[in-house]
Amino acid sequence: MSRRNILIMSRRNILITGGAGFIGSHVVQHFVEKYPDYHIVTLDKLSYAGNISNLEQILHRSNHTFIEGDITDRQLVEEIFSRYAIDGVLHLAAESHVDRSISAPMVFAHNNIIGTLTLLEAARKAWAGNYANRRFHHISTDEVYGALPLDGGTFSETSRYEPHSPYSASKASSDHFVRAYHDTYSLPTVITNCSNNYGERQYPEKLIPLFIYNIVRRLPLPVYGTGCNVRDWLYVGDHVKALDKVFHEGITGETYNIGGGTELSNIELVRMLIRCVDSELGRPEGESLDLISYVEDRAGHDLRYAIDSSKLRDRLGWQPKMSFEEGLRRTVRWYLDNEEWVEQSIRRNK
Ligand code: NAD
Repeated sequence: MSRRNILIMSRRNILITGGAGFIGSHVVQHFVEKYPDYHIVTLDKLSYAGNISNLEQILHRSNHTFIEGDITDRQLVEEIFSRYAIDGVLHLAAESHVDRSISAPMVFAHNNIIGTLTLLEAARKAWAGNYANRRFHHISTDEVYGALPLDGGTFSETSRYEPHSPYSASKASSDHFVRAYHDTYSLPTVITNCSNNYGERQYPEKLIPLFIYNIVRRLPLPVYGTGCNVRDWLYVGDHVKALDKVFHEGITGETYNIGGGTELSNIELVRMLIRCVDSELGRPEGESLDLISYVEDRAGHDLRYAIDSSKLRDRLGWQPKMSFEEGLRRTVRWYLDNEEWVEQSIRRNK
């Protein structure tokens, strides 16, 4: 038997927080469909970014229960642990938009830090030192590591924490609490820090879905600064497979970085997106390039993120499968086919 804790058991009761959001809905769908013997309990407060229709394919499956509620509600969270005998947690619920964190930092501190702490406390209380086959998986971001120079370097699991935005500071703080619960109480935790995701069902305030919306309607495409900031993009389905691996096989107390290995400057990405949307709409190639408008840079804008995911690749055998071109084409197609979802998402936020 290797050192890996392989936690696949015939029956598990897993709490997935933030399951009506972008990544969470893909995680819930994957676990409900792939593990019919597991009972998946989704907890989501259905904020502007959460949409119950994201779960429509699996909402009423017999191995799935949806609960509308807040992770900061201690009584509710404790009740869920006890009523459903929760033995595993995949924690994704968070306020996740950097620009919103700049205008409302307190909301991010309360939601992302106190919310995580509430879940950790509930797990500690419910599991009461009996940690066999239990797991608390905290899903975090590469933004906790700060920024890299344009000319090189990658974030590894031992990179220094140096968050620059209130969003990344709140995620960094929640990571520290998760690690502290492992080190202090031996809570069986794992943490994953992932690069930028893209794919179907992302709320249309983030760059890719927002710009698809604007290109279709011939609205301006506001690019921060000179557009030179670099991000490392990963298709959401590949992220979900990595989470499955780490949840079941990751070593307790450890951290795993997840990255797509597709580094693009924002302006390169926007140009690719324009080509893709114009081609799907049958417009002349590059017709929408003149929609690009450069706007004042975001405060504290990190220059470059790039993830070294060799630990996850070498030790757990994960690697991303989706090429960026194909993933982007699928994503664009999904948004063009789901205009009602987009309009409804925007209306819900008003
Ligand atoms: P999202 O904003 O699309 O979804 C977040 C979900 O959490 C929403 O459904 C929302 O209703 C729910 N939620 C928020 N606060 C809650 C609360 N207090 N109680 C219950 N539910 C609550 O976010 P996402 O992009 O899917 O990100 C999910 C997680 O993955 C986050 O923790 C984020 O930090 C992390 N992450 C995201 C990315 C990315 O590129 N999107 C990259 C790395 C890590």
